[in-house]
Amino acid sequence: MDCEVLVVGGGPAGATAARFLAQVGIDTILIEKDLSFHKPCGGGVPSAGLKDLDLADEVEKIPLSRVKKIKIYPPFSAPIEVELKGGEIYIFNRFIFDSFLRELAKKEGTQILEASLESLKFEKSRIISTAKKREGERINISSKYVIASDGVNSKVSSLLGLPQISYYWTVSLHIPKISNNENCCEFWFGSSHASFFYSWVFPALEYLSVGTGAEKVDKLTELIKNFLKKRFGDKVNPASFKLKAYKIPRWSRRIFFKDNVFFTGDAIATVMPVSFEGIYYAMKSAQFAAQAIKEKNPTVYEKLWKERFLNQFLIMKKFQDFMFGNDKRMDQWLNIHRDPAIQELAMALWLRKEKGGKLVRLYLKAFSNLISKIVNLALK
Ligand SMILES: Cc1cc2nc3c(=O)[nH]c(=O)nc-3n(C[C@H](O)[C@H](O)[C@H](O)COP(=O)(O)OP(=O)(O)OC[C@H]3O[C@@H](n4cnc5c(N)ncnc54)[C@H](O)[C@@H]3O)c2cc1C
Repeated sequence: MDCEVLVVGGGPAGATAARFLAQVGIDTILIEKDLSFHKPCGGGVPSAGLKDLDLADEVEKIPLSRVKKIKIYPPFSAPIEVELKGGEIYIFNRFIFDSFLRELAKKEGTQILEASLESLKFEKSRIISTAKKREGERINISSKYVIASDGVNSKVSSLLGLPQISYYWTVSLHIPKISNNENCCEFWFGSSHASFFYSWVFPALEYLSVGTGAEKVDKLTELIKNFLKKRFGDKVNPASFKLKAYKIPRWSRRIFFKDNVFFTGDAIATVMPVSFEGIYYAMKSAQFAAQAIKEKNPTVYEKLWKERFLNQFLIMKKFQDFMFGNDKRMDQWLNIHRDPAIQELAMALWLRKEKGGKLVRLYLKAFSNLISKIVNLALK
């Protein structure tokens, strides 16, 4: 088989890259190893993010739950309730969402195959990818470019000898909706139930998506049990769930492009520190990679990404390193979000996906004020 671009992986990043490429007539094949995969994921995406990716009207055609309020639970202080302004969070079932994104790519002309990438061979200006279909047959696909959208365990990255992505561990479950549950996303902080992470409750249409995270896998079972007990008391029995751990990338700077291969989404760890939001950023990275191919200039990819997101990722990483693992500091930082002005900044950056130079600086200023307070207290 022959094409201009082979996309490996049919999650949000891969399906988005394929959609934008096929839309402008670029011959694209996408391979996904399991078209029935339902990724364990909270499925939360801000509505503004979908608008930014030209999906505002399209997503109305699939089932989704709309959330207009969040509750943040600091480790020690009372919960902080925030009405979302200028946008909503949509909660998707990931099987439905990913299938829908692939369907859009297919409508634009992408050829989609259920096959798992096994190897890559570089020949002059072509890449020969070998993939194994479900039924066992092997196929060779020759392309000018490969887009690696194959997630946190990226096979493409390991075939190219790139260092492994570092990650946190998560565990998530779907529990039946509890009748008096508000349609609200909950973020719970505290080391008794989440380690260098938070625990969450997101209301999907038919279930509650509940989970927690940790930097080490062996802590997860105890942490999720603690969280279920803390949040639901005796209403949920942890023993009734089969727990499985999943990785979520820990962002750090990585290679965007090498040997005619673009890396996107979780395969390049584009998960925002602190919020651990990955779907929107995976799709944006894919859009930028597709743009670079359209412009016949691979360097455009990294340039677009850096201009749009680098500062925000760097700052959130600093927050993460400073706050997580220390409940007292985390409590202090979360408490600054009681201030409506800080809420507004967070809302602009996180919910409305506004472009950030000035906003990021203002948010950083609030953070610096907090650090000075902490340092002053320590010196007293
Ligand atoms: C428990 C949990 C909760 C989360 N909650 C949220 C949330 O609420 N909101 C949010 O924004 N983000 C969330 N995330 C992060 C989000 O799931 C990811 O950042 C996002 O899915 C990244 O998209 P992607 O397309 O890069 O990778 P993925 O969605 O992981 O897709 C990669 C695809 O590649 C395929 N693949 C892998 N290897 C091969 C191969 N060799 N050949 C062919 N195909 C291959 C896989 O089957 C998969 O379909 C969560 C993550 C976890 C683990």
